[in-house]
Amino acid sequence: MDKWKKTFCPLCYHNCGLEVQAKGNTIRQVRRDKGHPRTKGYMCRKGARVAHYQDHHERLTHPLKRRNGEFEKISWDQAFKEIAAMLKKILLENGPRSIAYMGGGGQGCHLEASFGRGFLLALGSQYHYSPLAQELTGLYWVNGRSYGRQNLYLGPDLDEARNFLVIGWNGYASNAGVNRARERLEEFSKDRDKSLIVVDPLRSETARLADKHFQIRIGTAALFLKSLIAVILSEGLENRAYIEKYCVGFDDITKWFKDFDVASAARVCGIEQRDLEELARTYATQPTAIRSDLGILMDRQSTMNSYLEMILMAICRRIGTSGGNVFPGHVLPLGPHSDERNPATWRTVETSWRGPATTFPLFSETLSSDDCSSTPRVS
Ligand code: SF4
Repeated sequence: MDKWKKTFCPLCYHNCGLEVQAKGNTIRQVRRDKGHPRTKGYMCRKGARVAHYQDHHERLTHPLKRRNGEFEKISWDQAFKEIAAMLKKILLENGPRSIAYMGGGGQGCHLEASFGRGFLLALGSQYHYSPLAQELTGLYWVNGRSYGRQNLYLGPDLDEARNFLVIGWNGYASNAGVNRARERLEEFSKDRDKSLIVVDPLRSETARLADKHFQIRIGTAALFLKSLIAVILSEGLENRAYIEKYCVGFDDITKWFKDFDVASAARVCGIEQRDLEELARTYATQPTAIRSDLGILMDRQSTMNSYLEMILMAICRRIGTSGGNVFPGHVLPLGPHSDERNPATWRTVETSWRGPATTFPLFSETLSSDDCSSTPRVS
């Protein structure tokens, strides 16, 4: 058996530091890397099982070519030559719009995607299909309209926050989005001067740690967020100085929240109105960082959820401010920016579906163009 070697987990974009012992190319043992400067020994259950993915018995280790309905093994040399010739022919005969690339996405595919996207762009095509486009399309779109670039993401400033508001995210089970999430969640849960507030229809591992768990009905996150905003505006808790300095269109949106029936909304959400109002006051008056995730990014109002979350943060001065949500630095931008209003931005051929961050979802070709034309509205 080899010595312990330092590496990292490729199963999500946190890339936690790991140490592995291998025999030849096969991982035998995995342990956390306590000396890793960023993740400091954190590893979730997926990382602990990384060998399952690395050495999975169904994983392809050589190219296959279909012949007479059956796959047969061919050499890499043959595969590269045949694929290159095929791509060249398609490109010459039909142009770059005839080529799409499928791959990438957070879960272990982001390494390959940087090569795949570069190759696609070199061929002149913008058609990158990825699971990220199903998870994050609405968020990309809202980011673009709100902050000017679709690849600008907000992250919670947990070092300075007094409260941690978690919406549709089970960080205790997996890091995703917050470094050493389990430790950070425990910190907010155990510290008497801080609060962990969880909004989730499920009694998740994270929700079990919460000081307050809003167990809203499935599909009511937009109503919940809208109610928070309505309470804040009706009680005059918005930060006018910040809004005047950094926001545009505030007066246009206030009508959506005026005279909103918070009591009925709370009933539909399945929570107490007074608890919701208390949370609105807490969020407006105390440095509170938000982490939301697929629980609201993939429900039926996903784009609206992101839009309402952005409005909530903006009116309370929680965007780009200490203890709220900030724009973390990245070595590389998290994806490109592709505003669909720019004529140079491609849409899909059949349905004219737009791809925020030039990432197209696999289902887009099954929708009609009518489905693609709506923009988020709050009603
Ligand atoms: S959080 Fe888990 S899946 Fe993500 S990189 Fe770390 S160990 Fe891997």
